[in-house]
Amino acid sequence: MNDSSLLQKDRKHIWHPFTQARTDFGLAVVKKGEGAWLELEDGKRLLDLVSSWWVNIHGHANPAIAAAISEQAGKLEQVIFAGFTHEPAIDLASRIAGILPGDLNRVFFSDNGSTAVEVALKMALQSYSNRGYKRTKVVALQGAYHGDTVAAMSAGASSGFFDAYQPFLFQVHSLPLPHTWHEDANVEAKETAALAEAEQYFAEFGQETAALIVEPLVQGAGGMRMYRPSFLQALCAMARQAGVQVIFDEVMTGFGRTGPIFACEQLDFVPDIICLSKGLTGGFLPMSLTVTNESLYEIFLDDRFDKSLVHGHSYTANPIACAAALASLDILLDPACDRARKMIAAVHENGLERLRELPRLSRTRAVGTVAAMDLDSTESGYRASISSEIKKQAMENGLLLRPLGNVLYLMPPYCISEDDLNGAYGKIAIMLEKLVSGNAL
Ligand SMILES: *Cc1c(COP(=O)(O)O)cnc(C)c1O
Repeated sequence: MNDSSLLQKDRKHIWHPFTQARTDFGLAVVKKGEGAWLELEDGKRLLDLVSSWWVNIHGHANPAIAAAISEQAGKLEQVIFAGFTHEPAIDLASRIAGILPGDLNRVFFSDNGSTAVEVALKMALQSYSNRGYKRTKVVALQGAYHGDTVAAMSAGASSGFFDAYQPFLFQVHSLPLPHTWHEDANVEAKETAALAEAEQYFAEFGQETAALIVEPLVQGAGGMRMYRPSFLQALCAMARQAGVQVIFDEVMTGFGRTGPIFACEQLDFVPDIICLSKGLTGGFLPMSLTVTNESLYEIFLDDRFDKSLVHGHSYTANPIACAAALASLDILLDPACDRARKMIAAVHENGLERLRELPRLSRTRAVGTVAAMDLDSTESGYRASISSEIKKQAMENGLLLRPLGNVLYLMPPYCISEDDLNGAYGKIAIMLEKLVSGNAL
C-alpha cells in the first residue's frame, strides 16, 4: 500500500490526539524506527528529538527490549491481577522500590500517566476519608499538566487546555510557579513571593487539603517551565508541615530525564506518592506506576472492602509490559546510560549558548536531557502558529520537533549520538535565522 492510500484511509477513519485536523499541517506515515531515527514511508529519515512524546528513552526498536517482550509473550501474555500475581510484576515492583528514594516501596500498577495521577489523587483523598478526616481539597502549581482524565484535568486546569470541560472539573487551587531560565535576575524575588503565597494558602486551607501535586523541577506540557529544587523543597516542607500528602508527578521527569533516575533525587525530600509512566517501558508499551509508602498503604487495610482502593484496570500489570520495563531498566541503570545523559546535557549547554546569539529567542533553559527556549513570536501559548511553521521546517530538515506553542524544546532519546545532536543544533540555528529574516518570527 503506498503512502497516499494509507493517508487517505487514515484521514477517513482516525481521530488523532491533541490535533486540530482541519488546520494541522501534514501527517507522516512512519515505517520503522531505529535508535534515535525514524524512517517515513517515502524513505525520508527524521531525528526524533522529542523521544516520540517523551516515552522513548532508549531509542526506537531497541533489540534487548524487543527480545524481552518476545520472550515474555511466548510465556505469559496477560493474567488477571486480582487474586493472582506473576514474576515480571514482582520483579519490577521490587526493582522500582529499590531505586526509588526513601520509603517509596508500595507499587500500584496502571497503564498511562493520567491514570497514575488519578490513582495518586484517589489514594491521597481516600487516605483521609478512610480515617474519618475531612480533607477534600487538592492544590497544584500554576500551569501544571497532569494528564487528560477528569481528576488529572482538574489538577491541571490552570494549563488552559481543558476550558471546554471546566464545569465538570473539581476545584483545584493553583499556587504560583517561580519558573526560571538562563540569567533570570528575578528568580529569588519570584520564589520569595510564591512561597509567601503558599504559606498563606497552607495557613488558611492546610487542614482541609489532602494533596499537593507537582511536576518536580520541570513542567512539561505547560511549556517546559523549569524551577529550582530549593523552591520545591521549601514548598513541600510547608505541605508536609500542614499534614498534606505530597504527590510528585514524575511521569515525564522519571527514568533519567532530568539527569538522575528520578527528579526527586535533586532535592532532600521524599514525596508520599510518586507517579511514573512515560519512560518506564522504554517507549514500547503503555504502563504506569503509582508508588507510595507503607504507612499510607496501611490506611487501606481493614476488614471492610469499602476501605480498599477500589481501582483497577483490565490490563493491570500486564506481564509483557513488565518485561519491557525490566529490560529498559537494565539499560537505564548501566553506567553507559548515565554517561550518555551527561553527554546530552553538555551538548544542550553548548547548543543553547550558540542559539542565545540569535534574535527573537529568549529564556533558554535546560535540566538534564531537556533543553528549551521561548521564541518571541507575537502569539504565545500552545496555540501559537509559529509552532506549525517550526514543525514543517524541522521535517524538511530531517528533524522531529514539536514545539509547545512558542516554546521550542529538545528531549532526545539517550541513545542519540553526540554528532547527531550537535548537528540538530546547527540545523535549528539555520532554521531560526531563516524564520527571523523571513519575518515569520
Ligand atoms: C504526559 C504526562 C501525563 C499524562 O500521561 P499520559 O500517559 O499521556 O496519560 C501526566 N503527567 C505528566 C507530567 C506528563 O508529562
